[in-house]
Amino acid sequence: MTINVPEELETAPGVIQNPHEVEFYSREYPLESQTVEYTADFEWLKSVAPEEFLVELKMHDSMHKAIIAESMNTGDMDPTAEPVPGKDVTQLIKDKARELGFGEVGITKFDKRYAFKSKRDWVKFPHAICLAYEQTYEPTQTAPSIEAEGPHFGTYRIMGALALDLGDYIRSLGYHAQVHNPLVESTVFIPMFVQAGLGQLGANGQLLSPHFGSRARLMVITTDAEVTHDEPMDYGINAFCAVCQVCVNRCPGRALLRERIWWRGTEKYKVMFRRCHPVMARYDSCGVCMKTCPVQRYGMKNVMDHYATTGQVLGKGTHLLEGYNLRELGYFGPGELPRFESDFFHFPHGKAEDLLFEEFKEKLRMGEVNDDSEGEAVLHEFKHRVEEYVNNRLDTPQMTQ
Ligand code: SF4
Ligand code: SF4
Repeated sequence: MTINVPEELETAPGVIQNPHEVEFYSREYPLESQTVEYTADFEWLKSVAPEEFLVELKMHDSMHKAIIAESMNTGDMDPTAEPVPGKDVTQLIKDKARELGFGEVGITKFDKRYAFKSKRDWVKFPHAICLAYEQTYEPTQTAPSIEAEGPHFGTYRIMGALALDLGDYIRSLGYHAQVHNPLVESTVFIPMFVQAGLGQLGANGQLLSPHFGSRARLMVITTDAEVTHDEPMDYGINAFCAVCQVCVNRCPGRALLRERIWWRGTEKYKVMFRRCHPVMARYDSCGVCMKTCPVQRYGMKNVMDHYATTGQVLGKGTHLLEGYNLRELGYFGPGELPRFESDFFHFPHGKAEDLLFEEFKEKLRMGEVNDDSEGEAVLHEFKHRVEEYVNNRLDTPQMTQ
């Protein structure tokens, strides 16, 4: 597929960034996965999410568990053959990945600057094979809905299993292969996909891939195989998002920025988690910003060709692209957004154990923890809740978007 980028949309291949700043933040303020850092947020989600959604999530978690567990150990598995010395196996790996069903495949160096703090020692090999699997088209157009959530969760299961097969194949070529299932949460994937030329970051905070835009579900396999790295590309997205702005206009939580900002050394659109999470929690993981993106709906080539000939954003202002339903609130067409009171956006933020401790300190301050039997009961309850949290830790819902 050839994508003709109109001259006025050309900026730079990949992203615009200052490598020294990226390194500084990665060293001094390393990233951590949300399900480690924001356990209180996700505990809270369970108290407001629709029952139907929680049932779907639980079913997905239990079906996915064995695949995640197997992925965790793949870094320790030995190759099953001797490699052919000096033979570059890039094309063999890409062909196999496509045969298995991955729609986008690219290779770059594993970028440790984006690895999560708790997983830095887990990652073993230097090259990252970036793999994107297409989430089913039709149900995605119904987001936010349970119909769209099935394929969202299901895609992770399918690609998680296929990546285990691809790992076996790489081992049969004589090399190691460590499978980074998205729910293992080892690293931020998008920067490596951009570096491997598989798209650019959109204003919705998602990778806009050439074949299926933001409907791409992402994962990585790291390997020590003899491979050649791909190069970042300019698909025109850095400038196009500034013109388009559909996702920004349509976000029910007003969680997306109109302008790019400098964040940890990269010039990017930043999603405001505090405004997004309360919407995602109550409305089936939301996904309005994915659904309303023309690159997702019509494909990058069609969107760029349309812009080149008309100067317009394909589908902008139409009900087909911009309309969506929210549970109990009904339909919102172009120009219409729901209104939420400010307390809609209040939720406990941070680590669950920190919040428990804050609550306990408040009880101490209020004189509720004395040396009598009532004080002992408060202490006992605190211990019980900490134990409950520690034992349930692995059941934190996995909401990877
Ligand atoms: S998921 Fe929904 S609330 Fe969050 S940024 Fe996207 S459109 Fe906004
Ligand atoms: S909807 Fe428009 S502005 Fe938003 S990510 Fe897609 S192309 Fe960019």
